[in-house]
Amino acid sequence: MLVLEYKVKGRRHQYQAIDEAIKTTQFIRNKAIRYWMDAPKETKINRIALNNYSTALRKEFKFVEELNSMACQAATERAWSAIDRFYGNCKSNKPGEKGFPTFQKDNRSVEYKTSGWALHPTKRRIIFTDKKAIGEVKLLGTWDIHTYPVKSIKRVRLVRKADGYYCQFAVDIEVKTESRTGDGELGLDVGLEFFYSDSNGHHEENPKFLRKAEKAIKHAQRQIYKKEKGKNNRRKARRRYAKKHLRISRQRTEHSKRLARTLCKANALVAYENLNVKGMVKNHRLAKSINDVAWTLFCRWLEYFAVKLGTTVVAVNPKMTSQKCSDCGAIVKKSLSTRTHKCECGCQLQRDTNAAINILNLAKARGGHPRSNATGVATSTLLGASLVEQVATMNVESPSLKARGVSTHAKLHTLGVGKVR
Ligand SMILES: [Zn+2]
Repeated sequence: MLVLEYKVKGRRHQYQAIDEAIKTTQFIRNKAIRYWMDAPKETKINRIALNNYSTALRKEFKFVEELNSMACQAATERAWSAIDRFYGNCKSNKPGEKGFPTFQKDNRSVEYKTSGWALHPTKRRIIFTDKKAIGEVKLLGTWDIHTYPVKSIKRVRLVRKADGYYCQFAVDIEVKTESRTGDGELGLDVGLEFFYSDSNGHHEENPKFLRKAEKAIKHAQRQIYKKEKGKNNRRKARRRYAKKHLRISRQRTEHSKRLARTLCKANALVAYENLNVKGMVKNHRLAKSINDVAWTLFCRWLEYFAVKLGTTVVAVNPKMTSQKCSDCGAIVKKSLSTRTHKCECGCQLQRDTNAAINILNLAKARGGHPRSNATGVATSTLLGASLVEQVATMNVESPSLKARGVSTHAKLHTLGVGKVR
């Protein structure tokens, strides 16, 4: 599945109509969740039951009836995906929060399937034909949707972002496969100083934009609270903040994608530390940093390219990897400020390089059973195998216009794999 994105250009009343459709989607989704919650125990609520419920809602509410019927179904499917995930977590006995479905307040998209829209013969416009009266809007972008047969377009989504409205097409075609060019083995250690250090002694610098990002975002955020509540200036400051955030997440995605692709292309095995291990001191320290968000995103792209390029990607528990000697296995205690690993056996390495070698060794010790994090969920989130799943990606990219703590906010969304909002 390939997703093509265009910027939408329309008139003010058309944007309002899109907002209206987005609101209706949220209404249907939340109603469906409520329907599931209130259903008597003996009634089994599944995807089909929720689909039928969307038909009932159409009879009851005029504004629901105005939205294309398949778009209504897509909205109940979002509810189902939240419920299904919750069931899945319970079944697999996932530790901690099971993710009981909650009501959504910040939906930013509406999804059409194969009806309710038509592409204009000029190939640069799309017409929405349901009674939400969005009408015909221009599509700005470089991808030519018309190089693909209209029949292969499975979903059309309208998304509100900080800098305007976007139209995404999910096209059902096989993405061209690439092949791996090398058979290396690499361990990666995420540090505070560098984006990562690898087992060959290379240190990947933190990209400039990430270093600048934290400062810029914090500044923009402070500006919001300086303005009076409910006033226009505050609204403007909030917009500025959201735009900055959007820009940085786009850069972050590009950066992660590029690095991950390069690594998977050149290596048969890539081992990295799993920062989602609970109770980790390192994680705790990193949680404060914007790096944490970037690293999580990077790991997801690693898994994505691993599948595409046939690379084995292994997430290992990083416990003790910085303290252990990668040569003789002795524990050499060091504080965070100690930058060099010096062991009695004569081994002397930069601290993160030593850790990266340990990480690689741990992965290799696991032998033929790579327990990668590539569950397919993360992969489909990036790929957009289903657009419902893809909503999570969108959230990473486009925060709501509401100002919130950047790192926590972005982190929640990044980690909330497949969470529909
Ligand atoms: Zn040693």
